[in-house]
Amino acid sequence: MDYVIAPPPMISLPVVGEDATFPIHRIYCVGRNYAAHAVEMGHDPDKEPPFFFQKNPDNLALDGNFPYPSMSNDVHHEIEVAVALGQGGTNISVDSALDHVYGYGLALDMTRRDLQGEMKKLGRPWEIGKAFEMSCPCTPLVKASEIGHPESGAIWLEVNGERRQSGDLNQMIWKVPEMIAYLSELFTLRPGDLILSGTPSGVAAVQRGDKLVGHAEGIGDLQCTVI
Ligand code: MN
Repeated sequence: MDYVIAPPPMISLPVVGEDATFPIHRIYCVGRNYAAHAVEMGHDPDKEPPFFFQKNPDNLALDGNFPYPSMSNDVHHEIEVAVALGQGGTNISVDSALDHVYGYGLALDMTRRDLQGEMKKLGRPWEIGKAFEMSCPCTPLVKASEIGHPESGAIWLEVNGERRQSGDLNQMIWKVPEMIAYLSELFTLRPGDLILSGTPSGVAAVQRGDKLVGHAEGIGDLQCTVI
């Protein structure tokens, strides 16, 4: 196949213990999936259908740096477990959903909170708050065949050594199988899709020079410097 311009490179994530990498198709993100975070954002955490937005594969930042973005003075960290799908499908059942998971990583859903807030007020899409360059620092993936499917365990984020976000994976309102099943009714899921599963409470602003360290039990650690 010839192209009239050079095709963009395939974006992929390293996989622990593999030379080959995991190619990224789409990045779905679920909003307000931990009750305490829903409350801190001014919402009622009672179970309502999950909602989703997307980031772009080339928003992934894999070199340990997060460049402070343009047009914002209020950029927040959101530490999240990333679920990587090895199989796709539509109308996937909750019972079979985990069979579609290749592995897990730890990601930051970096957010221009000021721009997102303006868009919320105006009833406009969130892209300018969420889907900007390097807005998704992410670790290499660990394989589900090696670690299983973590359903509980601590998830936290420290900034310059101070604990900012803290929660437990068992606090997700919509569990991983439920979000896969729900998403698969809305979209055709594909191998290579990444799902960010929401953030615990404690989101706050970052500054240039901040050193972020995240952890999710059973999955691993993330380190990122704001530059
Ligand atoms: Mn998020």
